[in-house]
Amino acid sequence: MHPQLEILLELQDLKTQQRELVEAAEDSSHEIERKVFRVRPEDAAAQLQAKIEEMEATLAPDIANRYRVILDRRARAVAPVLSGICYGCFMTVPTALPQSNEEIRWCEHCGSFLYFVD
Ligand SMILES: [Zn+2]
Repeated sequence: MHPQLEILLELQDLKTQQRELVEAAEDSSHEIERKVFRVRPEDAAAQLQAKIEEMEATLAPDIANRYRVILDRRARAVAPVLSGICYGCFMTVPTALPQSNEEIRWCEHCGSFLYFVD
């Protein structure tokens, strides 16, 4: 897999975790869990945010630009491709493109980075 794609996927995962922590921090029904785990979700969210920013800084400039543009419009920067369909927009990915994760590709319809699952 292209190393930058690996970073993008990891970032997506961390961002999902971070969103959940922010939601947990705002939701008082998690009070009991907080006492059990002794970690404040807001602290964990802040630590993850720092890690996310550190990783974003390792993206190549052109990829970082596209990443920011996508995230302005969409919740996720990377979309899986299954059976030739981009799951960011459910449009067909041209089969003329190499279906490989060794290169950074993006969907010409929705702009998402593509991650080929099969
Ligand atoms: Zn798409």
